[in-house]
Amino acid sequence: MPGRRPVRSAVAAAALIAVTSVAAACGGGDDADEPTASVTPPTATETAPPSPSPTEQGFQADIKRVTREDLPHSWRRGCPVPPSGLRMIEMTYWGMDDRPHTGGRLVVNAKAAEDLVGVFRKLFDIRYPIERMEPVDKYRGSDFDSIEANNTSAFNCRRATGSSAFSQHAYGLAIDINPCQNPYVYPDGRIAHKDCTKYRNRDRNDPGMIHAGDEVVDAFESIGWGWGGEWTGAKDYQHFSSNGR
Ligand SMILES: [Zn+2]
Repeated sequence: MPGRRPVRSAVAAAALIAVTSVAAACGGGDDADEPTASVTPPTATETAPPSPSPTEQGFQADIKRVTREDLPHSWRRGCPVPPSGLRMIEMTYWGMDDRPHTGGRLVVNAKAAEDLVGVFRKLFDIRYPIERMEPVDKYRGSDFDSIEANNTSAFNCRRATGSSAFSQHAYGLAIDINPCQNPYVYPDGRIAHKDCTKYRNRDRNDPGMIHAGDEVVDAFESIGWGWGGEWTGAKDYQHFSSNGR
């Protein structure tokens, strides 16, 4: 319908003007004496929705396929899940600086990817802060170095701590969150990362700490994943997994 073209152009032009006005209003600090407080709030019958809050507009996640080349250190022949059974979730996360961050990357089992996006959406919505979120390949597959960086990660084809069996991480079915604030504590109380030993005290309430029954534990519980903070003997406060181990 060629007759509609001018109308579309007019709408587009109006939209452009509107965008420009908004940009000018946001960018300038000189309009501080404008009576913004007296602006009439939009009524429910108007079509334009109110501006979304940062949390509402913020969370985004993409689930992408991975290849062997994406996992140079974390995957090798003999691992229980092939790269084709894994996915990279690229997502926003709430940072320790109390701001949204883009570009978080988490490698997980393909079967769990959708559920985990739902979990991380919840964590974002409650503004649960995460220090960083990078594949362990950034640390050449070293779990120790990843923890030293307080990195949140999932897939790593490695043995369970103190065991010859594959960890749930080797299946992409376990996630470690803020491993410094939520350390692995040996039965004798030892923590392998010196700077994190103060978090042995679980009565603390620092940002990023996970506690029994809180919203982080609840979010994972809602997809059937268990928490290492509930283990007897060693405690793994950073660790969530599909089978609870
Ligand atoms: Zn873990």
